Amino acid sequence: MRLMPSCHDVQMELTEYLEGTLPLRRRLGIWLHLRLCRVCAGVLRGLRALPLLARQLLGPAEPVPDAALRALARMQQKQSD
Ligand SMILES: [Zn+2]
Repeated sequence: MRLMPSCHDVQMELTEYLEGTLPLRRRLGIWLHLRLCRVCAGVLRGLRALPLLARQLLGPAEPVPDAALRALARMQQKQSD
């Protein structure tokens, strides 16, 4: 069994990797490769930097601090009622 995929394999499957559609063993191999290979990690960063793709692949953006603070304030208000 070949756990660690080649650079070519990794780059061919990066989109699926981001989408989370690969089998677990495959994802593990790519995950490991990305931590050891700066070339493929750079390709991954490039893919993630594409705004439209990033939105499609990575889901909603992290909450902005303001919204989080307002939510926290609402929660505290509810508790004090
Ligand atoms: Zn590589």
